[in-house]
Formats: sequence, C-alpha cells, structure tokens
Amino acid sequence: MRKNIVAGNWKMNLDYEQGVSLFSEIVNMVKDEVVGNQEVIVCSPAIHLYSIGKLATGKVSTGAQNIHQAESGAYTGEISAAQVKSVGAEYVILGHSERRAYFGETDALLAEKVNTTLKHGLKPIFCIGETKEEREEGRFFDVIKEQLEKGVFHLSAEEFASVVLAYEPVWAIGTGLTATPEQAQEVHAFIRQSIAAKYSAETAENTTILYGGSCNPKNADELFSQADIDGGLIGGASLKSRDFLDIVKVFN
Ligand code: PEP
Repeated sequence: MRKNIVAGNWKMNLDYEQGVSLFSEIVNMVKDEVVGNQEVIVCSPAIHLYSIGKLATGKVSTGAQNIHQAESGAYTGEISAAQVKSVGAEYVILGHSERRAYFGETDALLAEKVNTTLKHGLKPIFCIGETKEEREEGRFFDVIKEQLEKGVFHLSAEEFASVVLAYEPVWAIGTGLTATPEQAQEVHAFIRQSIAAKYSAETAENTTILYGGSCNPKNADELFSQADIDGGLIGGASLKSRDFLDIVKVFN
C-alpha cells in the first residue's frame, strides 16, 4: 500500500534558530496525529539539516531541497548527496519549478541528480508540472509526460520504487491559485497511468504522488480525498506549525 505523505518545503526561509524551533514544534504537534501509513517530511535549507536530523523521530523525516550531481569535488557552494545523507536526511526535492526556472536545471541534469540521490540511499521527491501558458495551450499532458520520461523513467522498476512524485502546476506555486481537485486528479490519474504503462500496474499503485501549489488547511481535505492524490508538497503553509499540522491531520 502506498504511503500518504505531507512534505514541507521551507525554501530559503528561516534563520537557524527559527528553523530548529519550528521543527521542534512540528515534531511535538504531529506526534499523535500521524496515522498508520502516513509520513511527514520537512525539507529545510541545508544549514538546518544536521540539527533537525537529531530531533527527527520515526514519524517526521527530513529532506534537502537540492544536491549536486557529482560525488564530491571542486563545486564551490554546492552540497553532495553523501553530505545530505550524513546528517540523517532521507529525501531530496528535485526538479522543483523554481530550480528549473531560476537555475536552469534541465531534464537531463535532473536525471543525473536523481541517479546520484538514489546511489546514496536517499529518496527523490521529483517535481513535475506545467506553466500557465502550457496549461492554456492544452499541452500539459505532453509536458508532464516528457518530464517523467526524461527525469525518472530511465530508472529500473526497483530504483523507481524509491521515488516520490509531486505534481506542482507552476501557475499554482506561491500564487494562491490552487488547481481544483478535479484538475489535480485528472493529472494525477494521467501520471499513474503513465507509470503503469512504463513499469506495471503494481508499481503505479505503489507510487506516492503528491499535489503541490498553494495547498493550505482550507483546500487540503478536498484535494487529498481524490483517488490519486496521496498527500501534498507544501510551501508557504509549511512555515506555520498550526497550518502544517492541520494539513497533516487531513489523513486522520
Ligand atoms: C512548493 O514550493 O513546492 C509549493 C507548493 O509552494 P506553495 O505551497 O507556497 O505554493
């Protein structure tokens, strides 16, 4: 049975103390609220990872927001998968639209990052999603298919089993514009069918597919009740412990 996941993406927010304090609050607040096959993940800036990794419990895991594709070496300012792994993180967000748009991350580069992530025993939270223009032009299925094919479909079925997908329509990220539950479900079902066609119906059934894009305590319930939406990747609302908790509690 696939996992339900609520993952926070803090982006480039919170100084060290604020981050550690928010993470402690989250751990305390969610400890009695995380049900059976649910997992809560916090993807923080790298500076927090060591300290929050020490505070993480079985119910709350930590993740990075990026890694470099190389093992180690002369890449000033970058962080390796091995370094992320060494501070107890379990996940890495890859393919976020902000990294694709502002840092020029291509599908080919992301495929390399996926490989490095898996090689170090970390699990990618791989983001895909169309821009406003691509949606308006009705090209969103093609865009998503291409991102899947180039970013993760080169993996073996065994490797793919460690991947969490996140459908994040770019027009919904940080904009307050959420995809309707029907729009999101339509794409999630398409993603699951694409996985079934590439791997197997069983692999598709076991893959966790998150929705991300202005998800908040008011809309999470309706979104997460859709058949193919297995939780959320939460940006803005993950910075407030109460809002994040309310989203986690949707699965209760
Ligand atoms: C995100 O950055 O992954 C995200 C979904 O952001 P927000 O919830 O703020 O739209």
